[in-house]
Amino acid sequence: IVSKLPDVGTSIFSVMTQLAQECGAINLAQGFPDYDPPLALQEALARHATTPGHHQYAPMPGLPRLREAIAHKTARVYQVPAPDPATEITVTCGATEALYAALAAVVHPGDEVVVLEPAYDLYGPAIRLQGGIPVYVPLDSPTFRINWERVRAALTPRTRLLMINSPHNPSGAVLTTEDLESLAALVADTPILILSDEVYEHMVFDGVPHRSALQHPALRERTFVLSSFGKTYHATGWKVGYCIAPPALTAELRRVHQFLTFAVSTPTQHALADALETDPAHDQQLPAFYQPKRDLFRELLAASRFELLPVLGGYFQLARYSQISTTESDVAFAQRLTRESGVAVVPVSAFYHNGHDEGLIRFCFAKQEATLRAAADRLREL
Ligand code: PMP
Ligand code: GLN
Repeated sequence: IVSKLPDVGTSIFSVMTQLAQECGAINLAQGFPDYDPPLALQEALARHATTPGHHQYAPMPGLPRLREAIAHKTARVYQVPAPDPATEITVTCGATEALYAALAAVVHPGDEVVVLEPAYDLYGPAIRLQGGIPVYVPLDSPTFRINWERVRAALTPRTRLLMINSPHNPSGAVLTTEDLESLAALVADTPILILSDEVYEHMVFDGVPHRSALQHPALRERTFVLSSFGKTYHATGWKVGYCIAPPALTAELRRVHQFLTFAVSTPTQHALADALETDPAHDQQLPAFYQPKRDLFRELLAASRFELLPVLGGYFQLARYSQISTTESDVAFAQRLTRESGVAVVPVSAFYHNGHDEGLIRFCFAKQEATLRAAADRLREL
């Protein structure tokens, strides 16, 4: 077989989770909570899973009542005109499917797609599978802010799409209103589309709000905005997300979605619609739910030899380990930490197409207090 992705191994998230299991390590590597979704949501799923008539294909773009609920939620959260459920909202199998479908829908062979690195591991391979060419632009280190001059320099007449991710995985950087203005100015008078990965939209800290591309009228006209119920409801295993995009982009996305997965699990969509309808305040509570986790984890590691980078959003903490080891690659250090200290982490080089190594590891702090304390006890011994 001639591989289409000969240089791609198994995703770092699977690799580190497997290693964590083999070593009996505390898994702060792959990003997922070690607590469950709200009980009312679990009960809703149980109810719908035992409701006659909820077991066949959902409509291809998503259950109408779920799309309605997403429209209301979007208008409420971002104070913007509601997206049209009929033509602008598509429910997908996680944000993962939305990412892939959006890229497959608009990237033609030879098209260039700007990817800001470090980047979520799926972006580059998904672009290449369309015959697209990822054009990697580094974020400024160590703030991981976007250097708009560098982005400008990377644009060419063949640039089809530019991908942004805020709050950012793995760095926790958050885009500002000024960033969105810079982006809009950069693409004005070009046909460049935007893909805005906003799966951590509700994990923002210190009172600083998430700025969605949906809030910028000019960007909204050319952007696929992605979100994930996996993140918002502590239910990464449910694999439900969605894409909001203008009608012309949504029509193209759905052409792919219908042949990729066709539709998303019916009872799961009903349960999420119930949750949005009956507890619309859920997402507003998330900053106050996650900030204490971030603060606790940072406090616990303050006495360690890890140097903690700032976290403005998301549920990951980056740390420099140069006071503990100066000779090891981040991969070697992450593996040793997992095997010898019993705490699994992700090496940040996994987020660079060329394995660029900044000497950083990533911890996931979407964990119960006891988990964070147990991990920190081990990490402080280094
Ligand atoms: N984008 C980013 C930045 C992510 O961290 C994740 C997390 N897994 C995804 C997309 C995929 O989301 P989902 O689990 O809903 O497929
Ligand atoms: N988004 C999660 C992370 O960054 C992992 C998702 C996955 O395992 N595919 O850790």
